[in-house]
Amino acid sequence: MAPSPLQLQVPASASALHGAHMNGGEGDASYAKNSTPQRRVQQRLAPLVEAAVADVCRDAASVPRSIGIADLGCSSGPNTLFLVSAAVDAVRRRCAAAGATCPELHVFLNDLPDNDFNAVFRQLPEFLRREQSRRELDAGNVLVFGAPGSFFGRLFPAGSLHLVCSSFSLHWFSLVPRELAHGELVNRGNICAGRTSSPAVIDAYTRQFSRDLTLFLESRAVEVVAGGWVLVSLKRRSARDPCSEGCAMYDHPNSILNDMASRGLLEAAKLDSYNIPAYEPCAEEVRGIVDAEGSFKIVGMESYETAASVGTAAVTACDPAGFARTMRAVHEPMLARHFGAGINMDEFMSTAEGHFGRLINEGTYRGALVHVLSLRRKCKF
Ligand code: SAH
Repeated sequence: MAPSPLQLQVPASASALHGAHMNGGEGDASYAKNSTPQRRVQQRLAPLVEAAVADVCRDAASVPRSIGIADLGCSSGPNTLFLVSAAVDAVRRRCAAAGATCPELHVFLNDLPDNDFNAVFRQLPEFLRREQSRRELDAGNVLVFGAPGSFFGRLFPAGSLHLVCSSFSLHWFSLVPRELAHGELVNRGNICAGRTSSPAVIDAYTRQFSRDLTLFLESRAVEVVAGGWVLVSLKRRSARDPCSEGCAMYDHPNSILNDMASRGLLEAAKLDSYNIPAYEPCAEEVRGIVDAEGSFKIVGMESYETAASVGTAAVTACDPAGFARTMRAVHEPMLARHFGAGINMDEFMSTAEGHFGRLINEGTYRGALVHVLSLRRKCKF
């Protein structure tokens, strides 16, 4: 007999299934107001979007009847439409240059169901008005769809996408590795695969990344047409051995939370069981997983460090309060889910500002390390 819906094992909070969504809304603590560093990473993907579109629309004969474009992990705010706008623009210019009629463009915006899609949808009328008013180019129809769900699984019809962008999202897991979530492994002093994590913890994180990235690729392999493109940016670590470096970017929230616990502002035992579903892979790991999955060819793989280090022109990026706000916009939903009323976000913010201020003064603050990847769907023979 089929189980009744009431007998199904449904987690108390559906979002417990997922990785992390960002702070919604448009207030001071929102991702929308505090995502400039992530925008700079998107800018590194923009030339790849241009190149991918040039390949898809090589000449008038090769322009598809309709073009599917998706942003996976689009979040909400000014970054949401940045890459898809660049793609729409590139298609139009390319078609004009090739003397081809601009095809219908299907734009899909994906993120976790808890993402602030209301804010995303509120941006659309202006986006579409802007697109429709561009009479100097053959407009073609732009149709935009929201696609809530995890990108670690199927989201779109088979063979419907020509270009997929995913900026700064794939370092998030589908979930905290099971052994840590169930307390079989304790990761004292770290909130993810840190320098002082045990080999078993590192191994759990490494395997989770491999499982998740494989699932991502398998799902996209069905959805992306042969010859289509997947452009990705994600955090990285430089060392091959995770024990020697850990997850450098997550050292920041780690230090901040441990500092709070040492001053009695956070329950230490509760911090021991706090592990975030995120990981910074090294280049060899990413390459190995993409090759093993087999559906995509790595056409480009570049690694770099974001400019936000002391002594660069990015002076505004070296504002400790700004760093603290960006950290809050990213981490608050997870912190709230785990610590509930047990964490005071004002204390978190002042500890974070002190932390970043110290690093900046010492000249030891390092920007994030980032992988930028362009993958091409292999043709099936
Ligand atoms: N691309 C945006 C947002 C990056 S923040 C930018 O460049 O600014 C990472 C985003 O990935 C968040 O919005 C988060 O909710 C989303 N995300 C994390 N895991 C996801 C998953 N499994 N499926 C879909 N989106 C996910």
